[in-house]
Amino acid sequence: MPPNLDIFTLILLIMTISLILYTLLLSFIQRKASRETVKPKIITKISCMRDDYSEERDFKKGDYVGLVVGKCPKCEGNLLITAIYLIRGVKEKG
Ligand SMILES: [Zn+2]
Repeated sequence: MPPNLDIFTLILLIMTISLILYTLLLSFIQRKASRETVKPKIITKISCMRDDYSEERDFKKGDYVGLVVGKCPKCEGNLLITAIYLIRGVKEKG
């Protein structure tokens, strides 16, 4: 310990560090909370009718379960919408 660092300086230093940590923690919690209130997203799940391929994309107007949306890149079979669901928009990197 350097000689000019007395007990009061030390306490003051600890308090300052705690305050900084507390502020950082608080802003972290607030950021997390605000991220959790992001609007939920609608996701459309698309699967091959032969069940060898599946993907997810953003919901588009007109999507419904059972709709044929294209060809499977693996087997050329029909790609069908098999599910439409909501997710919370928390996947974005903060
Ligand atoms: Zn397929």
